[in-house]
Amino acid sequence: MDAHLSVQGLRCLKLLYTIKGINRLQSIMPRKPASSLRLVEPVRTPRDAPSTTDQIVESITSAIVEQRLMPGTKLVEQQIADVFSVSRTVVRQALNQLSRSRLVTLLPARGAFVATMSAEEARQVFELRRLVEGGMARELAARITDAQIAQLRAHLQDERDAVKRSDVSGRTRLLADFHVILARLLGNEVLAELIADLLSRSQLIALMYQSGHSAEHSQSEHIEIVQALEKRDGRAAARLMEQHITSVERNLRLDPRTPDLAAVLRPKQ
Ligand SMILES: [Zn+2]
Repeated sequence: MDAHLSVQGLRCLKLLYTIKGINRLQSIMPRKPASSLRLVEPVRTPRDAPSTTDQIVESITSAIVEQRLMPGTKLVEQQIADVFSVSRTVVRQALNQLSRSRLVTLLPARGAFVATMSAEEARQVFELRRLVEGGMARELAARITDAQIAQLRAHLQDERDAVKRSDVSGRTRLLADFHVILARLLGNEVLAELIADLLSRSQLIALMYQSGHSAEHSQSEHIEIVQALEKRDGRAAARLMEQHITSVERNLRLDPRTPDLAAVLRPKQ
């Protein structure tokens, strides 16, 4: 790590300490999901009804995906227990589960925090997404059905509506879901879980590194991807997906604009 990344690190640390406000926890209260969310909910067998642990995991994951929870927010066990009317043991199980998918960091004697990510980890997430999602788009173009195209078109319409309404958490969720839906359409649940995990982490990255990629921009790139899928043009679909992920990454401030620490600290003349 060189000096200018340390400056970035300090900024993140400052961010962490200013956002540990207790009222942030209200943002994990369960919300009424949009109709299209049904597409991306985990598949359950009838005997596998959602436990309270699962509900807490899903609420916190949703809040992260919708960018209602900032990286570094302290997740106070007792508050979560009160929100869901459960014991702290149940909350602890949920937090353990979230730490396994790296959305939550558990610190000994300090508790649980929404995960933060280094610039290097952020780059790795985007590199992996380009590799996996590019291949996914190519594969899907070869076997997508007309009904699935219609399903994607309906999703694009939902995205457009949310962007128009300036519904920030709704559009954030829908834009992330687009990627998970593509994986689902391939019928590969393992892939869908991986993509959902990478998308949740991308949302934390976007919050930490001030994404300048606008919702409108993402939305129009999604439209181009669906057009390539409709033409069954696998090469174009893969290229557009890779370009889309690159443009999201390029709009993050992973490289601080002032790399010279001395220049940053020098008193202004
Ligand atoms: Zn996207």
